[in-house]
Amino acid sequence: MTVLSDPLFGVYNRAPLRVDHGKGVWLYDQEGVAYLDCVQGVATNGLGHAHPALVEALCDQAQKLWHVSNIFTIPAQEDLARALTQKSFADKVFFANSGAEAVECALKLVRKYHDAKGASERVDVITFEGAFHGRTYASVNAGGNETYLKGFGPRLPGFVALPFGDHEALTKAAASPTAAAIMLEPVQGEGGARALPIECLKGVRALCDQYGLLMVLDEIQIGMGRSGKLWAYEYAQIEPDIMTIAKALGGGFPVGACLARAEVADTMMVGSHGSTFGGNPLAMAVAAKAFELVSSPEILDNVLKVSNFLRQQLAGLLEAYPDMIEEIRGKGLLIGLKVKPNNRDVMKAARENNLLIGGGSDNCVRLLPPLNLTQDEASEVISRLDSTFLSLRKSAKA
Ligand code: PLP
Repeated sequence: MTVLSDPLFGVYNRAPLRVDHGKGVWLYDQEGVAYLDCVQGVATNGLGHAHPALVEALCDQAQKLWHVSNIFTIPAQEDLARALTQKSFADKVFFANSGAEAVECALKLVRKYHDAKGASERVDVITFEGAFHGRTYASVNAGGNETYLKGFGPRLPGFVALPFGDHEALTKAAASPTAAAIMLEPVQGEGGARALPIECLKGVRALCDQYGLLMVLDEIQIGMGRSGKLWAYEYAQIEPDIMTIAKALGGGFPVGACLARAEVADTMMVGSHGSTFGGNPLAMAVAAKAFELVSSPEILDNVLKVSNFLRQQLAGLLEAYPDMIEEIRGKGLLIGLKVKPNNRDVMKAARENNLLIGGGSDNCVRLLPPLNLTQDEASEVISRLDSTFLSLRKSAKA
């Protein structure tokens, strides 16, 4: 038999699991083996795999109209934008196809806003170490992760990365005449499920107000209900000027969005920005249904209830496995465990117990289950984690 060479770019460290189909929290491989999926496309399938209402919305739209690009009016864009603005701080929305593209729009908007105000010297976006904003050229520079930037030539100017939680450095950077915005994830996802304290979010808002900077929140991972509120910023009782969302917005269908206050959004004119696919009818049909369901009180209540249950149970595991777990982090259903063995080994052992969990910086593993996870399913997650740590302990002693 000839062994074919891998035809794909080798950019992903993929687990040896050849996927076939999914239903709710379960993912099945080509042999029919079932895995309890607490990755869900990295916090993207907010309602699990193949949710019937999303399947129906997609199939109905597929019979009607797929794509026209943005040279015509797509009424479904206006409907979803209205739904998003009614349930957020924002007045206007730009639809993109991914999180990184939503971030690109936000970064361009920041510069355009200051330029329109006659302050074109304001170009610097202040960011934080451990941030992740995507893999396009600008968003990867915004994230500032050395590993992701290595080999791609000079760093883009216009980003000032500060240590996480360094108030003094932040105050100094915000006062700079070239500062344009502060951009952050209220809870860092890839950075190891690190939640920014509410007081810090309030402090960032105050600094932005004091120095005329825009506050940009990246809620691509923590937004859309994952925190237990529709948007994580609600916990701090503040509002950003710009927010990027994606992931659970499409429930698994690629879509992203940049939301902004009118005064900010209106500085983008005809021709300032655009996308061939952004907001196409298929994406809008699925996202409208996903947003309707995820923003319902039932789902938000469920996130609070199930995440509290999971955290209580995880506290028990922390006590039982001090040799394995160092800390439990995150917010709502973005749960991080800082582990003692190598996190990749923990992910592998979990997989051997038919449980899928994600990785993260700072030697974390992440649990990103669907927002409609039931208590029984949550118990099963805990039981499989228990078996995972037990098997790791046994092999460490062997
Ligand atoms: N921002 C955050 C907070 C993310 O977690 C991600 C993806 O993990 C992105 C941006 C990039 O999104 P995408 O992979 O859809 O481009």
